[in-house]
Amino acid sequence: MIIELNNLINKSLRITRDLPMGEGRRPLEDVAYAEPVAIDFYLTSKGEKFRLTGSFKANLKCNCSRCLSIFDNEVSEEIDLVFVPRDVMAVKEEVELDKNDLNVAAYIDSIDLRQVIDEQVILALPMKLICSDDCSGDLVGDSDSKEVGDEIDERLVVLKDIKERLLKKNESQ
Ligand SMILES: [Zn+2]
Repeated sequence: MIIELNNLINKSLRITRDLPMGEGRRPLEDVAYAEPVAIDFYLTSKGEKFRLTGSFKANLKCNCSRCLSIFDNEVSEEIDLVFVPRDVMAVKEEVELDKNDLNVAAYIDSIDLRQVIDEQVILALPMKLICSDDCSGDLVGDSDSKEVGDEIDERLVVLKDIKERLLKKNESQ
């Protein structure tokens, strides 16, 4: 779902719906959307600066990284994101990576809500997906249980990398 921003400058928009994420879409290799994502978003604008707030709930199918079984997982998140035009963002690029920067994104003309949800799901999930605390790690059955996902978006790989670096940074403090 692409929100074109040109007509929304200095306006606001409420977006409440169950958003189908599309067949085979995966925010991460081991994570798939089980059903449409319930979103309740509010988009406001001050000139060319947009702010997206609200919440969403995503039901996910995850592959346990220990036993490879598929388990259900729910991600419910509040969001508060700021979108600035790409040329404004470019000025900030030299600034050191900061956790707050994950809440600011650049846009060109539009915001892709599915991409926003992908990113928020990645940030919300733990680094290691384990089906339960007492997962034995015994492989359940066979390779059938491991779903082979579509190639994941390169941008999301970058985001995952940023997250790993942030976690390491936080641990070392
Ligand atoms: Zn497991």
